[in-house]
Amino acid sequence: MPCCHLCLDTIPSVGFLSSLISKGRSTGSQSLITRNDSKRSRKPSNGASERSTGNRMSGGAFCITCGADPPLSTGRLCEACLRKRTILSKMPDTIQQMRCAKCDSFEIRGGWSSMDRDAIADMRIRDNLVLDERAKKVTVDFSVQEIDPRTNRLHVDVSGTIDGYKFRDSHSPLLQTSNAVCTPCARKDGDYFEAIVQLRSAGRKLNEKELSSLRSTLDELLQSMEPNPMFFISKEGPVTGGWDLQMGSKSLARTWGRKLTKSFGGSVKESPTVIGVNEGVEVTRLTLSYRKPAYSIGDAVRFKKSLWIVDSWQKNGPILRKVDRFERTGATWRDMEASSVVCARSEQRIVQVLNRDSSAAEFMDPSDYKVSTVALPYDDDGLSEELRIGFIDGMWLALPLSGKGGRK
Ligand SMILES: [Zn+2]
Ligand SMILES: [Zn+2]
Repeated sequence: MPCCHLCLDTIPSVGFLSSLISKGRSTGSQSLITRNDSKRSRKPSNGASERSTGNRMSGGAFCITCGADPPLSTGRLCEACLRKRTILSKMPDTIQQMRCAKCDSFEIRGGWSSMDRDAIADMRIRDNLVLDERAKKVTVDFSVQEIDPRTNRLHVDVSGTIDGYKFRDSHSPLLQTSNAVCTPCARKDGDYFEAIVQLRSAGRKLNEKELSSLRSTLDELLQSMEPNPMFFISKEGPVTGGWDLQMGSKSLARTWGRKLTKSFGGSVKESPTVIGVNEGVEVTRLTLSYRKPAYSIGDAVRFKKSLWIVDSWQKNGPILRKVDRFERTGATWRDMEASSVVCARSEQRIVQVLNRDSSAAEFMDPSDYKVSTVALPYDDDGLSEELRIGFIDGMWLALPLSGKGGRK
């Protein structure tokens, strides 16, 4: 459990309170914040000497507002006018914070921490107190007055010097606490999630092998990303035709959706659902439905009465290359609904060339171990010792490798 010393040391302060703030003491419900000026002062801070410098420079000068004689501040004001125009510190009237209703930890700059009442008050003051830029030797004292379990009045006394003159002011903001559920509690709860991802295939069931290769890309993705407490999966399992997952982060769901289409083609449909309203803001849940095409890269497909190899994915559909000659074409997901896989990449074989001439090669048929002959693919380089073959329409067919007219 972080004590306030730790927090003061590790979390940079907001606004004018520089990172050089150090905590002086903590007694009962009081705390003291002391600002160390060594970082920004031009010389060792000494208000009196600065003031006399101002006097020397002014040589017969007078207050630019009321005409009073020196001593004057560096802005050429007499003390009375400087005080009229200067506010040492500002603070909002109310400060909002969130506390987990289950474990009482507080939301602190995107994370959650257990802190006692004074430590959290100290931190909120630090985040909300804005000091005059010229202020030096600043000390902040505060006490906490509980009004009810969700409302505290903070009494904050600030003192410091500006141009060598001592200033002090005080604030009494309300620190209001609203209920939330912290990330670890949400995770434990199990029924919390922001997004549902549905893995499906176009017009058929995904088989187990496909499911596991789709699912494994999520683990790869999580390993490659910065850890985030919201990147959890609260529930997953098989459903008719595919697999469903519930996860803690919409952005994770979207990133995974992009990875899926990049790796396996297909499309992603997003539909948000409003699940409630929290403090006037609609809370939505995202359903992201991924549809994997019925074909994969390297599969031989029949499309518009020709044989093609699925080459790569574009946003709107695959790029296909022809089996029997150099030709490439793009097809849309919709066009491809009329296609069929005639020999999946996983069913294709790599065989050794036993003999070859300019148009054909002999190889051992992997199904019956007899020597057979197959026509060489159009992009054969005349040298290759292996061929990729597929059993299509009752016979082995050698498949082109690159579709670019060469093997390299
Ligand atoms: Zn004046
Ligand atoms: Zn909690």
